[in-house]
Formats: sequence, structure tokens, C-alpha cells
Amino acid sequence: MPDSTVRIGLVLPDVMGTYGDGGNALILRQRLRMRGYDAEIVEITLNDPVPESLDVYTLGGAEDSAQRLATRHLAKYPGLQKAAERGAPVLAICAAIQVLGNWYETSSGERVEGVSMLDVTTSPQATRSIGEVITTPRMDGLTQPLTGFENHRGGTTLGADARGLARVTHGVGNGVGDGLEGVVQGSVIGTYMHGPALARNPELADLLLKRALGVDELAPLDLPEVAQLRRERLRV
Ligand code: GLN
Repeated sequence: MPDSTVRIGLVLPDVMGTYGDGGNALILRQRLRMRGYDAEIVEITLNDPVPESLDVYTLGGAEDSAQRLATRHLAKYPGLQKAAERGAPVLAICAAIQVLGNWYETSSGERVEGVSMLDVTTSPQATRSIGEVITTPRMDGLTQPLTGFENHRGGTTLGADARGLARVTHGVGNGVGDGLEGVVQGSVIGTYMHGPALARNPELADLLLKRALGVDELAPLDLPEVAQLRRERLRV
């Protein structure tokens, strides 16, 4: 019998996991289990090659030095790139947008080649962007405002193959003056929103899960705690 367990890749939590971004994998697992699916988190550390066979992947934010280590590892073991090519959903938070892009410049001005899964480039901005973000999504399948907490110096410019995830209504977002937040390209969704983002934005969590499972609909999950959190965060 085929193994029906949904496998969630938590990619490099040892170097990329600021602000509890590993919580995104927990949210995915919990929303699956509450609906009766078997689900497990597979942690991929700097000691492991990156498997290409998982159902959905999440990557968190990082400080500049830690994200350099992650970039080198993902370039050496291209399992994430192969998984995205076959359409596996990938959620990339903050520094992960930069790492998955074409290149990024660190705060000290060093340019680092990314793994080119996203057609974006990132350069440090004059000031660090810190605080709450609220946005209006521009992506099919998302209808509710997205909220999160941002803390980044990098500003991300989208190339021709990348689209913005959302339009900023409060906060900074990608930070290069186009009013956009995040990036969508193929099966990869990137956002500067910590939170963790999927705790605050259940619609985004379910969009990733629908893609991971290959289904159009999921049983509704009406959780009062999540509704309360959303009300609080939309009142900034
Ligand atoms: N080091 C990156 C920056 O400052 C990303 C920060 C983060 O992931 N929170 O832009």
C-alpha cells in the first residue's frame, strides 16, 4: 500500500528560523491532522542532503551570516529546486526569498549568488524595515488580507518571471517602492511576513495544503483562536 503520510519539509531550521518561522511547518501539520490526514515534519539540517520527494517545503528567515550557509547548502544539494520544478509547493520567508533569488547583497555590501528559483534580486536599503505589515493579496485563491511582522534590511526587486504576492496597505513589504509584498513564481511563494505567517493567515496555509494534496477543496476549519488573532492583527 502506498504511504499516504503527507511529508512537510522544514528546510534548514538550524540556520533559517528567526521569529519562530518553524511554526509554519507545525501549522501545516496541525491543519492536516485536524482534517484526518497523517502528516509529519521532516527536518533537513546542514548535515542532510535536501530530499526532492517531500510534499511541501517551508524555509524561514535568517541573519545575513546564517543565510550564507543556507545558500551554499541549497546550491550543493539541489533537492528543493527539483521539487519545485515538479510543482511541489514551497513557502519562503524573508531571508529565504533572498536565498532563492538570483543574488542578494548583505548589509556589509557583499554580493552572494542565490539558487535562482525566484527571479528576484535583493540589496540593503538605507533603513531596516521593522513592524507590522498588512497586505491585499494579488494571487488567485487568496481573498483575505495577509498580516505579518517584518524585520529586514534587504529590499527585493522582482524580475520579469516573478509576480508580487500582495499589495501593501500597512508597513513596507519588498521595500523598493513598487508597493508590493512577497513574490510568487511557479510553485514558490515568498513573503517577508514572520508571525509565523501561516498561524496568522490560514487561507495561505490551506492554499499550500491544497497544492500539496492535489485537491481543489479542503474541509473547513473554523478555529476561534485563529479568528481572534486575525481580528487583533488587522487592527494595527
Ligand atoms: N538578513 C536579511 C535582511 O536583513 C533577512 C532578515 C530576516 O530574515 N529576518 O534583509
